[in-house]
Amino acid sequence: MEIVGSTEECAACGPFSSMEDKVAKSLTQLVFEKIRSQGRISRSDVAKDLGVSPGSVTAAATALVDAGLVREASRTPRDTSRGRPPVDLCVVADARFVVGMNLRDGLNSAVLTDFVGTVLADCDLPSPPGRKTLDAICNEIETLLDALLNKAGLERADLSAVGIGLPGFVDHPRGQVHWSPILEDRRTLVGPILSDRLGCPVHLDNDVNLLALAELWFGMGRSRSNFAVVTIEHGVGMGLILDTQLYRGAKGMGLEIGHTTVQLDGALCRCGQRGCLEAYIADYALVREASTALEWDLRVARSPQQTLEILFDQAKAGNEAARLIFERAGRYLSRGLANVIQVFDPEFLIISGARLRYDLLYAEEVLAEMHKFSDRIGRDRTEVAINTWGDTVWARGAAALALSVLTDHVAAHPVPLDTHPASHRHAG
Ligand SMILES: [Zn+2]
Repeated sequence: MEIVGSTEECAACGPFSSMEDKVAKSLTQLVFEKIRSQGRISRSDVAKDLGVSPGSVTAAATALVDAGLVREASRTPRDTSRGRPPVDLCVVADARFVVGMNLRDGLNSAVLTDFVGTVLADCDLPSPPGRKTLDAICNEIETLLDALLNKAGLERADLSAVGIGLPGFVDHPRGQVHWSPILEDRRTLVGPILSDRLGCPVHLDNDVNLLALAELWFGMGRSRSNFAVVTIEHGVGMGLILDTQLYRGAKGMGLEIGHTTVQLDGALCRCGQRGCLEAYIADYALVREASTALEWDLRVARSPQQTLEILFDQAKAGNEAARLIFERAGRYLSRGLANVIQVFDPEFLIISGARLRYDLLYAEEVLAEMHKFSDRIGRDRTEVAINTWGDTVWARGAAALALSVLTDHVAAHPVPLDTHPASHRHAG
């Protein structure tokens, strides 16, 4: 038998970073999330769904009730002669309040929600177009926040977290904005600065990531684990949910479907490259085409939005040149969507946004062509849905981010609010 010396190298394999690096959710948090996702549920059903013993659920539920995060809700008994009526658990809606905000060129919007995500108030304020300094943006955020809280009759001290979505490349864990079309400064640590100014934890993310989160928390994605969200509202954006988690890329700079190349040496894009998908289907691309194809009198001043509205109305009314512009854009979009399906194989694809005004872009023919390009290898058809939410969706996605981070803190180690105010005010 060979003696193994202390200097002998022993073979190794397998990834160095494994599950032990990830923070596993405590049973208490899992119980809380189960209750919140169901609205109301009995202790025994929680235990059954989570596959754990009823005793461990009772202990977790007691901690949550003692911390004021969960309460009991009695059911109407079918037969009172059998003793105690059955009791469900539900989340205490006003245990915490959060704000979600969306910043964009021209308009900032915000919602205030309770701990179960119900919107209690919403507010939007115009924002001067173009890039701004960080200080100017902070001022806009504070003005919007105070207007919202005033509407709801609450104060800043009542908030547990604020989530903010903005366009561009955002490093969520660090709260750093690498680049944004609304911010002059680059590589700025916006999150910590805002947390100081607002007096509560502020969490930032890319706006389309938060649209995907809105679908996961409140929308069509609640019952799905793997799905893609594409929006064609402002440019073309994409968010991805993998195993019920938001996928952000290694540095928060991924999923830029709008800047994937669909045409070599093609049309010039805002990003400086040629042939990006966005250069064919974004608002500015359609406006560029409209001015040429419709031979409009250029002396008449029109905003890009007005141009787009006229183009759309004319296409709907049967103007062939206008219709062809949307048809061509739709063909490019169908390729872009087919590429998403080919690369990610999502179980569900949601075309999502607040208004999705230009329905010609995702007409039946566009989706049929998308299926044609993605089904070539015999894959099952990816289910596609259109979700038009209304104006608050972007801010609601930001509220979902705030709720998500807040839940990681307060539901994992529940403590009563009164005795531990720090957990309320600075849980993040
Ligand atoms: Zn581009």
